Formats: sequence, C-alpha cells, structure tokens
Amino acid sequence: MNYKTLEKSSLIQNISSFSVNDYTVDILRIDTIHPIISGNKWFKLRYYLKDCITKECNAIASFGGPYSNHIVALAFAAKEKGLISYGFIRSNSTEPMTPTLMEAKSYGMDLQFLGRTHFKEKKNTILHAPRNKTYFVDEGGYGILGMQGASDILLDYPDSYQYDYIVAAVGTGTMLAGLVNAAKPHQQIIGIPVLKNEGSITEEINFLLPDDKQNQFTLIHDYHFDGYAKKTTALLDFMKQIFVTENLPLDFVYTGKLLYGVKDLVIKNYFKPNAKILVIHSGGLQGNRSL
Ligand SMILES: *Cc1c(COP(=O)(O)O)cnc(C)c1O
Repeated sequence: MNYKTLEKSSLIQNISSFSVNDYTVDILRIDTIHPIISGNKWFKLRYYLKDCITKECNAIASFGGPYSNHIVALAFAAKEKGLISYGFIRSNSTEPMTPTLMEAKSYGMDLQFLGRTHFKEKKNTILHAPRNKTYFVDEGGYGILGMQGASDILLDYPDSYQYDYIVAAVGTGTMLAGLVNAAKPHQQIIGIPVLKNEGSITEEINFLLPDDKQNQFTLIHDYHFDGYAKKTTALLDFMKQIFVTENLPLDFVYTGKLLYGVKDLVIKNYFKPNAKILVIHSGGLQGNRSL
C-alpha cells in the first residue's frame, strides 16, 4: 500500500451475497480492500493520517485492547507513511503478548500497557495532555474525521444508493455515523451493536453527525451475545456454516454477530417485502486469533 491507495478506494466493487427465504442479501466486501488495514479501519484512518501529516506531526498514537483491529491497522499505516507509532493498550505488560500485539510491534509500534482498570480515565488523561509532534487518534478511530472517512464507504461505491437498507456492526459507532452521514433520505441505516449495555452509544453516534442527520438510524441491541467478544457455539457454528456455504470469512467479534442478526431479522420479517438489503462486511479478523 502506498500514499495513493489510502486516499482512493475505487477498488470497492466486491460484492458477495447470501440468501435467506425470499431475500438475497448483498454484502459489500470492504474486508478485502487491504490485507492488513482491514475493512472499515482503512476508511476511518484515512483523514486522520492526512491531518497528522498536514499538521507536521512525526508520530501517531491511539488506544485499544489486546485484539484490536484498529491498533494493527494504525501500526501498519504509520509505518507506510514513515511515522512513529504508539499504542496504548488495555492490558498488562505481564500478560502473554497476543498475536495482534506482536504484529503491531513488528510494524514498529511502541506499545505502552495501561492495564485493565480505569482504562477510560487513563486514556482521557493522555488524550487531553498538551503535546506537539504526536497526533492522537481516539480508540477505534472515534471522531469526526473517522466518521468522514467512513462516509466514503458509500460515496466511493455509488451502487450502494440502490439499497433500501444498509446494515453494519457497531463498536464505537464511528462507521455507522459515516454511513448515516452519506446515506440518501430513502435509505434506512441499521446498526447491530456488539457491546452490551452500551447506554450512551446513540448519543456518541449523534455527536458525530450534522444536525439534519441526527437519529436517522436504528440500533438493534439483540445480537451482542452477552457482550464484547463474547461468543456461543451457536454463533461459531453459524460462522462456520456461512464460510462453507457462502465462502465468506467472518469474525465472532463483529461480522459474525452482524450476519447472524441480519439472518434472524429476515426470518422475523423485519424488512419490508422485496427490500434491497446491503450489509457492510467491515473486515477485521483479529478477534478470531483468540480462539
Ligand atoms: C472496528 C470494527 C468495527 C467497529 O467499527 P466502529 O466504527 O467502531 O463502530 C466493525 N467491524 C469490524 C470488522 C471492525 O474491525
């Protein structure tokens, strides 16, 4: 990957599909866009990297858990751009290194372990401390520039405007905000949160949106499987079955729950008859490394 490929994504033409009852659900494969800066991370990071370089920062830093797709993506993108990178990690240095963190380290990322308690408080202290040459990106790329990058998922793929529904997984909600921002009035945007009891997620999404786009989305909280990175054999069996029948790789943190939810919603007649449904395959197979 070079400079150009982070700014242009004319490469999204890759659609898969799967059928449930009378519906064919199309899947926009942004997971295939780049082997390391997978899926939505590629979109969410693009304007931060640009801003970092415009502001003449020589280092970029962010936050994440020990299986974070975002941390690996940032480490690799920073290396490509010749930037120093720092990852502040929600685990302890005494814990065994995860493959995800080893990979980030192999791209030159300097890892700092903040531990598993008071992560948010520690993060906010670091995020708001004065600094000069280091550019900070919030956890998961949350922020206006991340939202704008995610808007390009639809803007760069004009065929997306033929769909009635666009469905995506929700972590920080940055990607969903971008989809809402770029959607046309005839389109319904549906988010499947992968966290449990994420009470403020609606406000966090609205915070990123312009006034006329506020609340133009629906969150369905029924498919988190008891919380972030929690899984059941039913979920893993479903993922295996989708891989065998549709040749579609999923992860149990995001896209497995997303597709499970979409299938269930189709079966329950959630969507209006004959609706065209587009599901965003947002990438990210890091979570599967913990299996
Ligand atoms: C990070 C990630 C998400 C969550 O995106 P948000 O913008 O934080 O909501 C969804 N899917 C995959 C595959 C991811 O890696």
